Amino acid sequence: MDYEAYTSPSTELAIDLANIDPSEPAAIDAFLAAHHEWLAPRTRLTLRPAEREEIAAVAAMIRAVAAATDEESVIERLNALLAKSSPHPRVTNHDGRLHVHYSRDRANAVEQLTTTVAVGITLLVTAHGWKRLGICSAGDCQDVYVDTSRNQTRRFCSGTCSSRSSVAAYRARQRERPGGAQPPPWLG
Ligand SMILES: [Zn+2]
Ligand SMILES: [Zn+2]
Repeated sequence: MDYEAYTSPSTELAIDLANIDPSEPAAIDAFLAAHHEWLAPRTRLTLRPAEREEIAAVAAMIRAVAAATDEESVIERLNALLAKSSPHPRVTNHDGRLHVHYSRDRANAVEQLTTTVAVGITLLVTAHGWKRLGICSAGDCQDVYVDTSRNQTRRFCSGTCSSRSSVAAYRARQRERPGGAQPPPWLG
């Protein structure tokens, strides 16, 4: 099952946004600078403090959709996110390929970003099910991810977090044994 089947560029934008540290104003500015190609030319990239707060709120709302544990909560949280967006969809070929823009080009950065990620996440969930979004179970990670496994049983954002967690679980089991910790053979 390939990742492509479950994600569109706007979904990836939404996941990237959910994974910034919203308490860091610099992280929000860096996110916008790194993803400026998503915004119409001449969009103001220098954010005001209130705009940073709005972007942090949107990041938290995407995370809340991923954290929801039942379909009703997902619907409620998605609708809250959509209510903050201002969709004006239209087809364009400005970069040589046909694609949809969801927001007005003249909207400010917050409106363009909010609208694009709200629609991106909504399309993912409505096409592939509400369980496709998750939050990594590794204790020190907490990243939002898209679950591309066939049975929707993934618990970690990446192979790295998955193997780190199984090593940690192995060590915890070893500590509980009377003989104390023995390194697993593959750690020598
Ligand atoms: Zn475009
Ligand atoms: Zn992780």
